[in-house]
Amino acid sequence: MLKIENLHAEIDGKEILKGLSLEIGAGEIHAVMGPNGAGKSTLAYVLGGRAGYEVTKGSVSFAGEDLLAMDPHERAAAGLFLGFQYPVEIPGVSNIQFLRSAVNAQRKARGDEELSAGDFLKLAREQAAALKMDAEMLKRPVNVGFSGGEKKRNEMVQMGIIDPTLAILDETDSGLDIDALRTVGDGINTIMRKADKGVLLITHYQRLLDVVKPDFVHVLAAGRIVKTGGPELALQLESEGYEAIAEAA
Ligand code: ADP
Ligand code: MG
Ligand code: MG
Repeated sequence: MLKIENLHAEIDGKEILKGLSLEIGAGEIHAVMGPNGAGKSTLAYVLGGRAGYEVTKGSVSFAGEDLLAMDPHERAAAGLFLGFQYPVEIPGVSNIQFLRSAVNAQRKARGDEELSAGDFLKLAREQAAALKMDAEMLKRPVNVGFSGGEKKRNEMVQMGIIDPTLAILDETDSGLDIDALRTVGDGINTIMRKADKGVLLITHYQRLLDVVKPDFVHVLAAGRIVKTGGPELALQLESEGYEAIAEAA
């Protein structure tokens, strides 16, 4: 589904990703863990196609297509979803307007018909209920005044509505209390734990991985994957720290 080979990328002339390789097959959930500044968010941004990140070497294919040759909206239309560490606030645009335009833009790009206002509202309400988000929040401006946990829930509602093929979630667990963590984790499982989907879960902590059980765990240090294992690797990281493992690799 996703194949990253020897990826090098820089920001402002500074190389951050230094030969990163990673492959995600259909039906797989991969966790990427690593110290602050390792390049985890950079990886998410490069895959999403954010401006300012320059790929200098390597390749990324997504469902057999050259991902790096696609515009960000083409990547989304192809089924890629990015959840950010810091979801943006959009004053003046209601959450429901935002979600509807995101979904319909994607449907249009796929060649599907746009959803009617009624059908969309039904879908949005179902997803909000599934993620235990108060439906009233759909009317409020996007993320404005939302707590950290509410922003993450909102992002998962968006993911549920969009129903992507591959989700890249950057520290979706940051700022969540234990209950919100379980809800968001259950949401990821319900929406994405399917034979034809894949997930790249970027996280610092084991606790999300207790809910969303990864098939593979990778350690990202200094711009490349230095170690890959199963779920037990996350437990080892938690007890021994990144440094010992990155150095031994
Ligand atoms: P992580 O998500 O693993 O904590 P990041 O991908 O956010 O790491 O950052 C990787 C490195 O890139 C860090 O050293 C950070 O300081 C640097 N970096 C991030 N954004 C910029 C930028 N806009 N300009 C220069 N350096 C940056
Ligand atoms: Mg960080
Ligand atoms: Mg980060």
